[in-house]
Amino acid sequence: MENIYGVTYEKLEEYFLSLNEKKFKANQLYTWLYDKKIKSFDEITDIKKPVIEKIKESFYLGDIKLVNVERDKLVNKYLFELEDGEHVESVLMRHDYGTSVCVSSQVGCNMGCKFCESGRRKKVRNLTKGEMTEQILKIENDINEKVTHVVIMGIGEPFDNYENVTDFIKIINHPKSLAIGSRHITLSTCGIAPKIREFAHFPYQVNLALSLHAPNDELRNKIMPINKAYPLKEVIDALKYYYNETNRRITFEYIMLDNINDSAKEAQELCKLLKELNCYINLIPYNETNNIDFKRSKKEKILEFYDIIKKNNMNVTIRKEFGSNISAACGQLRSKKEDLWKHFI
Ligand code: SF4
Repeated sequence: MENIYGVTYEKLEEYFLSLNEKKFKANQLYTWLYDKKIKSFDEITDIKKPVIEKIKESFYLGDIKLVNVERDKLVNKYLFELEDGEHVESVLMRHDYGTSVCVSSQVGCNMGCKFCESGRRKKVRNLTKGEMTEQILKIENDINEKVTHVVIMGIGEPFDNYENVTDFIKIINHPKSLAIGSRHITLSTCGIAPKIREFAHFPYQVNLALSLHAPNDELRNKIMPINKAYPLKEVIDALKYYYNETNRRITFEYIMLDNINDSAKEAQELCKLLKELNCYINLIPYNETNNIDFKRSKKEKILEFYDIIKKNNMNVTIRKEFGSNISAACGQLRSKKEDLWKHFI
């Protein structure tokens, strides 16, 4: 049995054709799922009973459980329990241009970035397409409004779960499902070069962000082990290829870590590294956590770093801070839950 929220529209059309039914039934079923938000297939009134029984033999309505929400003015953090008892989190952020949800793509993560709470736990498994779609559905139910933007930037490396993530994008983009415009979807990778090249041929106009966080291999090797497998030159070459194929501007995320990657020298190096790329640099003040020793760069350091990039005529912003009052950086809701559990074991 397959989670129906993980089935693309095209696959559903093929399914109905295989039952000798009209493929238009996919349209009806998507409406019941994403518009009427049914809780049981029996609520469907415009598909004949025998066909409903067939659907019930092949699919089920996934139901990840919302087990905790932390709310702040501009951000909500959600903790979900999956069918196998694992947990993932998602974050809702309110912007002046809409609401965005940051979804997780894996339980745990094998990339081991030193500053990342999620990286402390090895990958347990990939999330299914349905589990990713459900994160958005549950959040829309909670806030009773439409999510307008999606970033695949929560727990996990999306390119380490390529097939599911790309199908998830197809599902949420479809006009009969959540209808999230492809330009409103951003995938963030830590730099798996071959997948960046493959993604250049994914036929949806989604945005790509690279978690860079260091302007040279020596430093990046220390804080992002993936850099040993795919050093900067390889990643930048792949991004150039991606840009040539898609003509889409790339975003570089750069977490500002006190006395680690925030000197004027590193700002200059960063400009040199990205000079030839049509890109956008996003400086992110680090959200400190109890479990990791890194500290957030001082405000003056962030501004000095920003000024250097600006003077090099590059596009740069400092990310508005979200969620530092609640559980801060990715992975922390789950960690808190685990701490909580320790009291009961
Ligand atoms: S930053 Fe992203 S890729 Fe790196 S360990 Fe954390 S979740 Fe994984």
